Amino acid sequence: MKFPVPLEVSGVTKALQDAGYEAYLVGGCVRDLLLNRTPKDWDVTTNAKPEQIQAVFPDSFYENDFGTVGVKTGSEDSTLAIIEVTPYRTETGYSDKRRPDAVSFGDNLEEDLARRDFTINAIALDPSKGQLIDPYQGQKDIESQVLRTVGVPTDRFEEDALRLMRAVRLVAELEFALDTDTAAAIKEKGPNLAHISRERIRDEFLRILNSSQPMMALVLAQQLEILSYIAPDLTRGVGVDQNQAHSYDVFGHLMRALQHAADKGWSQDIRLAAVFHDVSKPETRRWSDEKKDWTFHGHEVVGSRVTRKALEDLKFSRETIERVTKLVRWHMFFSDPDQITLSAVRRMIRNVGEENIYDLLDLRICDRIGTGRPKEQPFRFRRYKAMVEEALRDPISVGMLKTDGSRLIEKFHVQPGPKIGFVLHALLEEVLEDPKRNAEEYLDTRTLELLALPEADLKTLGDSGKKRREDEEEREIKEILEKHHVG
Ligand code: ATP
Ligand code: MG
Repeated sequence: MKFPVPLEVSGVTKALQDAGYEAYLVGGCVRDLLLNRTPKDWDVTTNAKPEQIQAVFPDSFYENDFGTVGVKTGSEDSTLAIIEVTPYRTETGYSDKRRPDAVSFGDNLEEDLARRDFTINAIALDPSKGQLIDPYQGQKDIESQVLRTVGVPTDRFEEDALRLMRAVRLVAELEFALDTDTAAAIKEKGPNLAHISRERIRDEFLRILNSSQPMMALVLAQQLEILSYIAPDLTRGVGVDQNQAHSYDVFGHLMRALQHAADKGWSQDIRLAAVFHDVSKPETRRWSDEKKDWTFHGHEVVGSRVTRKALEDLKFSRETIERVTKLVRWHMFFSDPDQITLSAVRRMIRNVGEENIYDLLDLRICDRIGTGRPKEQPFRFRRYKAMVEEALRDPISVGMLKTDGSRLIEKFHVQPGPKIGFVLHALLEEVLEDPKRNAEEYLDTRTLELLALPEADLKTLGDSGKKRREDEEEREIKEILEKHHVG
């Protein structure tokens, strides 16, 4: 059988073979070729040892401790620029449940395939002959779209708990089903995930989120009881009923919101915000006799805090944490174009940040679709979006004011220090109310008046920034949660 293997890749296996070695494509690239998917990278395995590989390819370098040699092909395609060539390996002992105690180079391909995680990842291809070596019937599993371990599943998961995450991730990426025994073993060995670093769990979690089927994968993770090792807060929404606007429980809603983001091909940050946005509904849920329904007052405030902790725990970057928690914090924004004023829209944008406002609108769409009972209102939503576009033309941050710190220092002899920030923020509040005020003359007049105020008043006026809002939120969160414990 002929496979579309790029010349850069077959060139590498051929060079090894011409030098007298065995060489095969192996792992994800063979699987993807058989699935008619485009491989993300190309891995070659060989009986040559690292020094021998390097002798065949002068333009190569040692990549890591596992004997992998990176061969530079000079290709402009980033998936082809470096081909990884790894000697056959055997692995022994997995006493820490995450990596072998010893890795040794092996002499034959079968041994190398035996150490691999799933049958569909344990197929080798000799591109020069078009010949497949498939001792574990990986092709059969590809055909029936089943993910199954090589060998006894409990043993394989016991060796390396990261495989538990890889299993769920591959199911999401390939849209496969789990073999029954493999699924049972995941459930049994789930607790071993506690031995895996949070960074590695995060990376697999992200691949799940960025896949085409994140809902399917996370529901599966929940059923197999491993979601609690990924993001335990998400499991709290299981079975928590919502108000009448919703068809699903909190967990089901989060999953559907996430899936909508995936269906739309939206960014990782939107997907993260979608999966966490209502995470704190369980602890803020209260029955309202008046409404005869559940309410979730403040869930976005508590939720942004819980999201921050969850993302910190998974070692997400500062930048991601800031952006996602902001989206969660402001996801309840009021968007009725018939009732909202442009200045409220400006404040909204100031809160979430100009750079995040369109993500917030997308998150709202996910939220709406995720209820299972979306009120059809694309027309009103478009009008709101038009208001956002209009508001974006106005000044929304201190940096857009027609005055700045150095003007305050030079013209008004303000001492450098926090006072400058207070004045600028107080001015911004006025300009958010009415953008026409963003003119030097008006701002200068107001600056003089503001500077005449007692320092404490000025601080209150201008301290609209982060600190005050954070303090307020801290109080609000306490209140919400205390009420809950009393009630
Ligand atoms: P992709 O490249 O799409 O992430 P992949 O299957 O190629 O998928 P890699 O992480 O590139 O995944 O690993 C390459 C191959 O190495 C796999 O196909 C599998 O054969 C083997 N492998 C990777 N991780 C493990 C593991 N934890 N246990 C056993 N084998 C593994
Ligand atoms: Mg790969």
